[in-house]
Amino acid sequence: MSVLVYTESEEGKFKKVAFEVASYAKAVADQMGTTVTAITINANDVSELGTYGVDKVLKVNDSKLDAFNAKTYANILKQAAEKEGTKVVVVSASADSKYLAPLLAVGLDAGYASNVVETPTSASPFTVKRSAFTNKAFIFSTIETDVKIVGVSKNAFGLKENAASATAEDFSPSIPENGVHVDSVDKATNTVTIADAEIVVSAGRGLKGPENWGMIEDLAKVLGAATACSKPVSDLGWRPHGEHVGQTGKPVAANLYIAIGISGAIQHLAGINASKVKVVINTDPEAPFFKAADYGIVGDAFDVVPRLTEKLKEFKAQNA
Ligand SMILES: Cc1cc2nc3c(=O)[nH]c(=O)nc-3n(C[C@H](O)[C@H](O)[C@H](O)COP(=O)(O)OP(=O)(O)OC[C@H]3O[C@@H](n4cnc5c(N)ncnc54)[C@H](O)[C@@H]3O)c2cc1C
Repeated sequence: MSVLVYTESEEGKFKKVAFEVASYAKAVADQMGTTVTAITINANDVSELGTYGVDKVLKVNDSKLDAFNAKTYANILKQAAEKEGTKVVVVSASADSKYLAPLLAVGLDAGYASNVVETPTSASPFTVKRSAFTNKAFIFSTIETDVKIVGVSKNAFGLKENAASATAEDFSPSIPENGVHVDSVDKATNTVTIADAEIVVSAGRGLKGPENWGMIEDLAKVLGAATACSKPVSDLGWRPHGEHVGQTGKPVAANLYIAIGISGAIQHLAGINASKVKVVINTDPEAPFFKAADYGIVGDAFDVVPRLTEKLKEFKAQNA
């Protein structure tokens, strides 16, 4: 009957989002008077999960599962949920989990609520608060099925330490054939992805051309940030489409979003609403982005950004 949480990892290491969903699962379990079981796939040190309130870990380790496959992973989660007699499954809002959750819902005949931003307002009936219209409105949904799947929005709940024992148990589910064979995976190295980034440095058409992105990359590097851009910038081919943020691009739920030479059109803002602190650098004091910003610098990016990078380097050197 425990709450089952899928704690994602990459190359054996937990993603930060794993600890957030574990924290959330613990809060739900407390509400329901039960415990938390995590399922991990090819994660190395699972003891870390105990810090966030996980009582038991079902460890799946199989090289056939090195590459994510939504159908296979959903099937494994289904087997875990059935073994545990789970009534509530918690997943993150990562691209992988958003892909597998509906498949899992079909497998378990469960209701699935995505974009959940708080612990259930009521455990019976099971009612959750969800963000809608890119955080401009909220919906209260009741999941009426016996088994419920909750997809937690990134950064909505945060990390909550709650020491537990996290006893590990090897779990060997049957691994179904999925008809897809991954030959190799080509990954960009030394870059932070937008989805996992705590800090995102994003730039727009105000940068004038792709040749000026060096200073954006320098700033991102010193901050350990991911780089992103507005839609026209990727449409023009100045930056890869994977960096395009907004209504038609990627959503960003970072702790810090720095927007440089981006006007702040509604379609761009739609993608960054869930970010916590927004800093805007723009020459035009009337740029709409300033209305959505926590901090603003009215100034020329070509002047401000290199100076900011230098100051940050000095600060890091002094505090190393
Ligand atoms: C259906 C639809 C979907 C869309 N989806 C998206 C989306 O997902 N994401 C998205 O981004 N857009 C989207 N757009 C486009 C959106 O409406 C805007 O056109 C776009 O966001 C503007 O990009 P920008 O701010 O980079 O460029 P601009 O609007 O050209 O703004 C450039 C900004 O840079 C500033 N600037 C100029 N020079 C400097 C300098 N030297 N230093 C500092 N600042 C400077 C200017 O003052 C200006 O504010 C969509 C549009 C439509 C119709």
